[in-house]
Amino acid sequence: MAEEQRTDSRKVDRIDTGPRFTEADAVRLNRIFRGTETLDMLETVLREKMAGDIAVVSSFGAESSVLLHLVARIDPATPVLFLETGKHFDETLAYRDLLIAKLGLRDVRKLAPDPAALAEKDESGLRWSYDPDGCCEIRKVIPLAKELAHFDASLTGRKAFQAQSRTNLPRFEIDTTDAQGRLKINPLVTWSPEELSAYMEEHDLPVHPLVAQGYPSIGCSPCTSRVAPGEDPRSGRWRGWDKTECGIHIPGQDDTGNGPEGDLPPGYDPVF
Ligand code: SF4
Repeated sequence: MAEEQRTDSRKVDRIDTGPRFTEADAVRLNRIFRGTETLDMLETVLREKMAGDIAVVSSFGAESSVLLHLVARIDPATPVLFLETGKHFDETLAYRDLLIAKLGLRDVRKLAPDPAALAEKDESGLRWSYDPDGCCEIRKVIPLAKELAHFDASLTGRKAFQAQSRTNLPRFEIDTTDAQGRLKINPLVTWSPEELSAYMEEHDLPVHPLVAQGYPSIGCSPCTSRVAPGEDPRSGRWRGWDKTECGIHIPGQDDTGNGPEGDLPPGYDPVF
């Protein structure tokens, strides 16, 4: 093969593996859309492909219907990634199917853990009980990382009010879980619980059946407990563990690119 061809091949490799977006891009997007209504921002970003190929990451949890409805109004074929951990409440799976049908979502991808990894590292299915970080790694972090490698950006449903670790989240940030430079977009970050409820009521969106039973934040069944009035909405997640997340997000940053100091290890923050 000619030396020229081999050189071209290396050039392509370098281009393909470079970061898609940088911190400067995230700061610029935050400034462009400062003050823009959520639906308008989403419409511009999705229709004009300002963030490239985008997927929604959804747990189909307590408030998931709002983001999914907003996205479906613009393009119901937008890919939606659901982590099929094998540990969800039956109510969540039924709610997921209800929302898919009601919103007309056309590309919901169920991401399952690698069967070989499960057999090797969680044969009993009880790893959550003695090593929840390891369990989340197998059932959430790795399957999502594999799928997100195909996208330039992800949309999350995170809100600032959900937990102290989310107070300073910007709308646009860089996903630093790997070096690909994907954008992570948090369209609902400034929404209050009252605004979410009002939107759900206005658009007749169904409520996750466990909300009425005292679960304002819903993840896998072994790691989700009821929350008492006045408690942090996410305090029912991994209760009793020094863990508030499952490793897909890192502590939030403001739109200047500065992040708060946290006591969590790098790469750890609530996922949904
Ligand atoms: S939330 Fe619990 S059951 Fe679900 S993947 Fe993480 S540790 Fe495992």
